[in-house]
Amino acid sequence: MPYETVIGLEVHVQVRTRTKMFCACPNHFGDEPNSNVCPVCLGYPGVLPVPNAEAVRKTIAAGLMLGCKINEFSKFDRKNYYYPDMPKNYQITQFDLPFCLGGAVPLAGKGYSGEPLPDKRIGITRIHLEEDVGKLNHFGKVSGVDFNRAGVPLMEIVSEPDMRSADEAYAYLTALKQVMQYAGISDCDMEKGQLRCDVNISVRPFVQKEFGTKIELKNLNSFRAVHRSILHEITRQTAAVSSGEKLRQETRGWNDPAGETYLMRTKENAHDYRYFPEPDMMPVEHTPEQIAVIRYTLPEVPWVRRERFVTSTASPRTTLTS
Ligand SMILES: [Zn+2]
Repeated sequence: MPYETVIGLEVHVQVRTRTKMFCACPNHFGDEPNSNVCPVCLGYPGVLPVPNAEAVRKTIAAGLMLGCKINEFSKFDRKNYYYPDMPKNYQITQFDLPFCLGGAVPLAGKGYSGEPLPDKRIGITRIHLEEDVGKLNHFGKVSGVDFNRAGVPLMEIVSEPDMRSADEAYAYLTALKQVMQYAGISDCDMEKGQLRCDVNISVRPFVQKEFGTKIELKNLNSFRAVHRSILHEITRQTAAVSSGEKLRQETRGWNDPAGETYLMRTKENAHDYRYFPEPDMMPVEHTPEQIAVIRYTLPEVPWVRRERFVTSTASPRTTLTS
């Protein structure tokens, strides 16, 4: 029986700003651990976050570049959980009213493996803005936390489950990165963790309408790793499903030298993050005029320009003779 792969991507992009999302600490990579910190990003009690206007503007810019609808009324929410890299025990993020909804990335040209890509658009579900968390560093039996990254503005770009191959995922990521760099929204340096990608992947028989069991792939630190891990998962999941095995919802990591994914944890019960509106910040409102001003500052979208060039070079004489 032939199988189809369904892939959706969650891409985290650090926004290029001078300071962090809710405080005045520098947003700068590579400094001495815990040197760019203050009571706000260390989660001391009683402090008040102040949203970074440049990060908000660049998130809206990202949405406009990708053809999203921009919410004129938006707000921040608290996502409650405990982890050592997050001293407040909640992350400020956006739940039901993100800055950007909808949008799409068209695929074009040849894929990573040289085959032509299908003529299709990968839908974008939403883009929301949140704060990054600290970074755990492991030294043998002890671990340290570097909070320089805590509070760095971070966009999450969630795609629709529209991709059907490793090549499509690679092309989508490449286009997304190009847009972010082109519009000056992020440098997207993966070695500095400025662009991070999680993959949701499942397989199903071609005749089946419902999605198969979703596996989440984490810790993919290059586009090549995304491509290779998807190919590996397609083979693994297809073999399992076609032999009648019932897959569980899992989070899996990628072992690059071995070229295979490994089990990190099973997802038996969904987290309850107890989201609620951030009480220390006002909702964020934008008028259509303010959104138009942001749009006015943006460069032409790469694929729109490509289309324009292809169209104009395809029939160069039309303009001369008409
Ligand atoms: Zn700070």
